[in-house]
Amino acid sequence: MSYTSEDSENKKKKDSAIKSLSRSIVDTVQEPMLILDVDLNFINANTGFYNTFEIVNEQALQLELEQNNPHFKQLKSNLEAELAVNKNIENSEFSLVLPKSGVRKFLINASKIDDPELILVSFTEQKDNLEKFDEIFSQAPAMICILRGPEHVFDRANENYLQIVGNRDIIGKTVRQAVPELDGQGFYEMLDNVYKTGKAFTGSEIPVKIDNGEKKLKNSFLDFVYQPIFEESGAVGGIFVHAIDITEKVKAIRKLEESENELRNLIDTVPAIIWITSESGKNSYLNKKWYEFTGQTQSEAHDFGWLNVIHPEDRKRVEKEFLKSNNERSPFHASFRLRNSEGDYRWVLDSGSPKYNSEGAYEGMIGTVIDINEEKIKEQLIREKQHRIRSIIEEADVATALYTGREMKIEMANDAMIELWGKDHSVIGKTLHEALPELEGQPFHELLQNVYTTGKTYWGKEDPVDLVINNKLHTGYFNFTYKALSDEKGEIYGILNMAVDVSEIVESKKLLKDSEERYRQMADLMPEKVSNIDPQGNVVYFNQGWLDYTGLSKEEFEEQGLNSFISPAEKDEFEKAWNYSLETGNDFEMELRYLNKKGKYKWHLNRAEAITDANGDIQLWICTATEIQKIKAEEKRKEDFLKLVSHELKTPVTSIKGYVQLLLSLLKSEKGVPLTAIPFQTSLERIDQQVVRLTRLISEMLDLSRIEKNKLVLKKENFSLNKLIAETIQDINYTNTQYNIKLTEEFDCNIYADKDRIGQVLINLVTNAIKYSPENQDIEVKIEKEGKNKVAVSVIDSGIGIDKENQKKIFKRFYRIDFKHEDTYSGFGIGLYLANEIMRRHNGKISVDSEKDKGSVFTFSLDVVSKDFKE
Ligand code: ADP
Repeated sequence: MSYTSEDSENKKKKDSAIKSLSRSIVDTVQEPMLILDVDLNFINANTGFYNTFEIVNEQALQLELEQNNPHFKQLKSNLEAELAVNKNIENSEFSLVLPKSGVRKFLINASKIDDPELILVSFTEQKDNLEKFDEIFSQAPAMICILRGPEHVFDRANENYLQIVGNRDIIGKTVRQAVPELDGQGFYEMLDNVYKTGKAFTGSEIPVKIDNGEKKLKNSFLDFVYQPIFEESGAVGGIFVHAIDITEKVKAIRKLEESENELRNLIDTVPAIIWITSESGKNSYLNKKWYEFTGQTQSEAHDFGWLNVIHPEDRKRVEKEFLKSNNERSPFHASFRLRNSEGDYRWVLDSGSPKYNSEGAYEGMIGTVIDINEEKIKEQLIREKQHRIRSIIEEADVATALYTGREMKIEMANDAMIELWGKDHSVIGKTLHEALPELEGQPFHELLQNVYTTGKTYWGKEDPVDLVINNKLHTGYFNFTYKALSDEKGEIYGILNMAVDVSEIVESKKLLKDSEERYRQMADLMPEKVSNIDPQGNVVYFNQGWLDYTGLSKEEFEEQGLNSFISPAEKDEFEKAWNYSLETGNDFEMELRYLNKKGKYKWHLNRAEAITDANGDIQLWICTATEIQKIKAEEKRKEDFLKLVSHELKTPVTSIKGYVQLLLSLLKSEKGVPLTAIPFQTSLERIDQQVVRLTRLISEMLDLSRIEKNKLVLKKENFSLNKLIAETIQDINYTNTQYNIKLTEEFDCNIYADKDRIGQVLINLVTNAIKYSPENQDIEVKIEKEGKNKVAVSVIDSGIGIDKENQKKIFKRFYRIDFKHEDTYSGFGIGLYLANEIMRRHNGKISVDSEKDKGSVFTFSLDVVSKDFKE
């Protein structure tokens, strides 16, 4: 063949056209492809070719093809030879060693194109065992790739692998080029080692930092195998990489580990003992606290070693209970004494629960041990105390009950209490509200709450309680206590209630009170003074009589005391006698004087009698004081009267006796003495006077006794009063010559009366006027008309007179005005009494008008009758 310039020009044009055509051909094909001219000179190659055969550029390729690479030289000569024979070459084998990817085997197909004349050579990598890689591994869950040659060129990689490298274009690149971030992480070196030694490497949970296309390198963990791929020759040709991303698993494990660590720390720091046992019940874990508490070592606590530190008395029981719980897979609770590191036993509470794994299989138990020594001891004390209380309550004869809590739950109640309530044993365990609803509205709930709050015991004394007994509301009376019960801390937890039924006592007391009331009323009505005195001598009661007498209020009287009213004159004697009675119980009787509200002492008859009980012990003194002042005075008057009578009688009798003796002695000596010389006249007159006086005295006394016996008989007649009065005055004048008795008759009348008695009244009045007028001798007797048909006779003197107070009393029997000297005026104190009695019997009146030291006027008045009146 020859070439002209035109030819060469054409050739150039032709060549460029060919080149552009061939480029467009090759670029559409991915498999390595080479385009040669008919002389087998290089025209073009596609990217697949460059990549596969590790050729950098066209120049380098030309150099490889023309000179350097013996494989290509060989290829060229083979092509030349075969194309000389055939237009096409099919599946001719070609292999070569590439610097990076090592030995490669290809099947070559070549064909001649006529216009322009070109030869197309395509290289198809020969399918070996790995040929079906994609099919097999693309969908595999693992990350898989095949590296070739000593530089570990990525030959193939599955989806997962590509994903982990962020879908970078790695095929055909060495590992160092494709994943440079692995530098320093040891992988390159591992690959080199596998390639060099031919020994597989298995990495487990190996951390790796890879650029997966996101901003940060991804921290992953891989399980992987680097498996060498051997050539037929036995040399290592590449490495099969199989990796599994176990990042999540590792993280989960790490987390688990962390949390387990945390838990362990936590378990070790909690103040309680924590234990875990295995399915068989053997100890599989005990936290630090156990070892600290017991002082056991891990090996000592191992298996069932933990049982060895339990108190010998508790051990068997605990072991049995624990194994039972473990077998039954039921919760375990036991309290027992656990020996601490110091050798002391302390009460602990051990509780555990069965533990199951996520699949629901039983794994053993987990539990805690808590030191409850203090509580246990307290509990024991309380239990002991409660036991004591219980036995006290049960054995008590007294109705007793125990309520707990603010709600007053009836914790215990003995039979006596239940009977008292009128209920049955079903009340136990109920609240007081529920058991005794009838207490609503009564003060007890409030009292109980109060005791619960304050702790102060409440004593109920004879308090009424309404209880429903046999469906009937019934009021009983009780002495009871509410006493707060407190625990060791001093906190109140309940109330002890003891009660005694005192209904009968209260009822009888009530009766007694009623009768006492009546007695008092009665005593108050009595004029007598009544008092009650206790065995010690204290006045416990006094009646109204005392207050009336002393004029004091109850309080004042209590304050002053009864004895302060006793007259000092009798006080000593009283005290002696009274103390004797108090000591001996003998009745007391004594007359003594008490000071009255007017400041006067009045005589009282005092009597006291002791009231004794069945044993003869003195319960009370009942004392009465009866005023006997009048009796006393009368008695005195009587006494005085007797004295006077004997004195008054003695005087005339003595005087009569004197005259008689005188006359007799004169008569005996008659011979020498003439009869005329004997003073018969005067002596007999004197005797007569005395006899008159005697007669009067005797008749007065007779009258007195008649009046007393109501046997005074009046001999009434019609007579002239004026005449009687005139004769009587004359008679009196006869013996009282020194007195000047004047009669003033302003009225002249007859009266129908007992003449002697009226005369006696007049004599009494006139002789009194004489007697009580020692200095003035003028006495006047006046007869006046009074009213229509009455006559008034007045005896007027200017003597000592009578004060107002005594004017009322002088008409009483034996009443005499006390004078300092008793003997000043003789008399019996019966004259005026008789005068008054006589007047009364004549329908008449007697009165006095007097002024002390001036004189007196005694007047009596009587009905007048006509002179010829006859009965
Ligand atoms: P007696 O015997 O004491 O005189 P009477 O009954 O006659 O008893 O009098 C009672 C008392 O009344 C007397 O003790 C005296 O104190 C008083 N009395 C009576 N008459 C007079 C009088 N004319 N003047 C003063 N006192 C009198």
